[in-house]
Amino acid sequence: MAESIELPSRLAILPFRNKVLLPGAIIRIRCTSPSSVKLVEQELWQKEEKGLIGILPVRDSAENVSVSSVIAQGGGTDPIERSPKIHVGSSESPKVNGKNQQEVIHWHARGVAARALHLSRGVEKPSGRVTYMVVLEGLCRFSVHDLSTRGTYYTARITPLEMTKAEMELVEQDPDFISLSRHFKATAMELMSVLEQKQKTGGRTKVLLETVPLHKLADIFVASFEISFEEQLSMLDSVDLKVRLSKATELVERHLQSIRVAEKITQKVEGQLSKSQKEFLLRQQMRAIKEELGDNDDDEDDLAALESKLQNSGMPSNVWKQAQRELRRLKKMQPQQPGYNSSHVYLELLSDLPWKRASEELELNLKAAKERLDSDHYGLVKVKQRIIEYLAVHKLKPDARGPILCFVGPPGVGKTSLASSIAAALGRKFIRISLGGVKDEADIRGHRRTYIGSMPGRLIDGLKRVAVCNPVMLLDEIDKTGSDVRGDPASALLEVLDPEQNKTFNDHYLNVPFDLSKVVFVATANRMQPIPPPLLDRMEVIELPGYTPEEKLKIAMRHLIPRVLDQHGLSSGSLKIPEAMVKIVIQRYTREAGVRNLERNLAALARAAAVKVAEHDEIVPLSQDIHRLTSPLVENRLSGGAEVEMEVLTVGVNKHEISNTFTISSPLVVDEKMLEKVLGPPRFDDKEAAERVATPGVSVGLVWTTFGGEVQFVEATAMVGKGELHLTGQLGDVIKESAQIAVTWVRARAADFKLASTEEINLLHGRDIHIHFPAGAVPKDGPSAGITLVTALVSLFSQRSVRADTAMTGEMTLRGLVLPVGGIKDKVLAAHRCGIRRVILPERNLKDLAEVPSAVLANLEIIPAKRMEDVLEQAFGGGCPWRQHSKL
Ligand code: ADP
Repeated sequence: MAESIELPSRLAILPFRNKVLLPGAIIRIRCTSPSSVKLVEQELWQKEEKGLIGILPVRDSAENVSVSSVIAQGGGTDPIERSPKIHVGSSESPKVNGKNQQEVIHWHARGVAARALHLSRGVEKPSGRVTYMVVLEGLCRFSVHDLSTRGTYYTARITPLEMTKAEMELVEQDPDFISLSRHFKATAMELMSVLEQKQKTGGRTKVLLETVPLHKLADIFVASFEISFEEQLSMLDSVDLKVRLSKATELVERHLQSIRVAEKITQKVEGQLSKSQKEFLLRQQMRAIKEELGDNDDDEDDLAALESKLQNSGMPSNVWKQAQRELRRLKKMQPQQPGYNSSHVYLELLSDLPWKRASEELELNLKAAKERLDSDHYGLVKVKQRIIEYLAVHKLKPDARGPILCFVGPPGVGKTSLASSIAAALGRKFIRISLGGVKDEADIRGHRRTYIGSMPGRLIDGLKRVAVCNPVMLLDEIDKTGSDVRGDPASALLEVLDPEQNKTFNDHYLNVPFDLSKVVFVATANRMQPIPPPLLDRMEVIELPGYTPEEKLKIAMRHLIPRVLDQHGLSSGSLKIPEAMVKIVIQRYTREAGVRNLERNLAALARAAAVKVAEHDEIVPLSQDIHRLTSPLVENRLSGGAEVEMEVLTVGVNKHEISNTFTISSPLVVDEKMLEKVLGPPRFDDKEAAERVATPGVSVGLVWTTFGGEVQFVEATAMVGKGELHLTGQLGDVIKESAQIAVTWVRARAADFKLASTEEINLLHGRDIHIHFPAGAVPKDGPSAGITLVTALVSLFSQRSVRADTAMTGEMTLRGLVLPVGGIKDKVLAAHRCGIRRVILPERNLKDLAEVPSAVLANLEIIPAKRMEDVLEQAFGGGCPWRQHSKL
């Protein structure tokens, strides 16, 4: 900064619109208007030495503010864009000798001489206009005497307003000035320190206070503030040092105040911000601490409980490691996070599984076990014997790797209840796993946990439910598992049933081995054939063929009726089902191998009786509770005395009860009327077969289904056609082929049987044959209907009815040989159930009759057949039809 500057008497003037340059300030401006460009070019750019120019503020008239001439501290554009008409604004304003008088310019009378510190020239594209960027430093005040134009810009005659040295010295002696300057210095100092603190400038600006004279410093300070144009002007006009200092002090103080207020506000905001940040941090820490302590609200309580449950579950160490890993993962998760739930459910399962928990095994008492089996089940002598053997081996060698028992038989023959009796005999818990319809290996082994909705397999799920590791587990309907694209459940079952492998059974969901070796497995199946041979190999099959009507009657009387009565809150004193009625139920309402429907029908009777008894409950004491209530009454009454009776009445027992105590209750006895009312009209009768075979073309066969043996009628009819064979009744390929063979055989033997007059005559000439197997909705297959089909066709063509009391089963070859078939026992039993008296069997099947109860055989005539002719001979009343014909 120049100490004293020699100013020329005339200066080129650059007008500043609404802006003041104070001495000591440094600004940068861009000159774009032709006048200012010209000025810069001529006064500054082309001079070798850096030239001086005058900066004169111009006040906008109110209506004339359109032109931007803001010269910001350190930046701006052309201070005045247009060249307005010059106007002598005030008495102080300089006189202007301008040509253009149309527009008035309010010039300020005082300005500041400025020196260019830096100049740069630019050419605007594409107009090619020249512009200048000038950095100016304000030097000292001057006053303007007059203004004139030089070309396009103004010049002014001026007088500098700086004090001389002597004048300065004189002022400096002035005590007012001294105190003013002290005050200013102190305030400025304060501002400096505040600013330094804020901007961390490190005392550099403070040096200014020591080196620069105060009157200049006042300008420098004020120049750096954002103050109004008026204030700037008044600062410019403050030529007197005392006035200048006091004004500057005021402005510095004001600035200081505003900084302080702003600081306070920021402090407040910052405080708030940091408060929330602090809170966040503290919360994070608290979470971490709680996590460490295993104490995290409900979730954390829950996790802690889960952890201790896992610890106490007795899982092996390798599983515990896996559980810990999973638990750590879970603890890091938010409950809303995906995966939290599945992880939690998994750990719950691990903690619930009976890794070591076992039901205490009672010392096995074989005699008691036998008694229990006998008391629970009627008959089944061989089966019970085998079970006792199994238990005996188990007693002697608990870890013996004996075969798995598999009960095979039609529904309702007691397979499940036998298995539960085994559990009871062993003193173990019993769990039934239904395998019917399981086609997916994952049903046995579980889904891997990567799948959505994955679950453990049925075995692990069953063990979780039963909560001990040594239950008797019934694998129900093991023959109903099938394999498809989703894998083979049978192979997974192989692993389960193999004592070598099931020590480390691997459920995909569990993903850790589980020891199944303590589980006692028992399986059930309706049929043996569908069980895959390797699986069958692991099992010992015990067949339960189904019951004879006599056995059913005994079972009903001894086991089912007492149980049913008990289940319905009845007693033998309230409902009696006579044997004759049970027989009717067996014969006319149920035709099944087992006793499930029988039990259901008995239950229906019991329900109906319960309603009646309940309606009548004032007459018949129903249950123990009423007994208890009435017995003291009875005693009281019997002990005699009206007093006692009076006393009883006052305790609030109603009249009915008192009179009831004397009612001699008679049990409700089921009769035929009640049977019809409750069970509806009989579903089967013995006349069915006779009625159905009354028309020629119908024969009676015996078939084998999952429900045991059944009687199957075969219907054949002929009509005008082209010699085609139609088959209906949901038939499989094998049975269709049997029908083809039957037709072929009958056609071939037509002349022999006098079904056609000569061998040349085609039996099918001009007609179609339709064979139907009723119960069209039930799928049927197998070769055993061969002889039945032939019999139906012979009956049709000979127009002779077959015997209604004769049923048959057997495969037939094309040459007419009768081949043995399976399921003889069930079929014979079915024939017996249905009131058939004669059964035609392949001769080679006679050996299978050994398994049929003798009571059944005693009621049946078994006719062995070697050839088809034997069958026909026996199937028709009065012998074979062709003999009849031959007699004619
Ligand atoms: P399955 O498992 O063979 O289908 P269940 O074991 O469920 O048959 O038996 C059906 C019902 O018949 C059960 O209530 C059972 O107690 C009873 N039951 C079957 N056979 C006998 C029997 N021999 N003695 C007593 N009750 C029997």
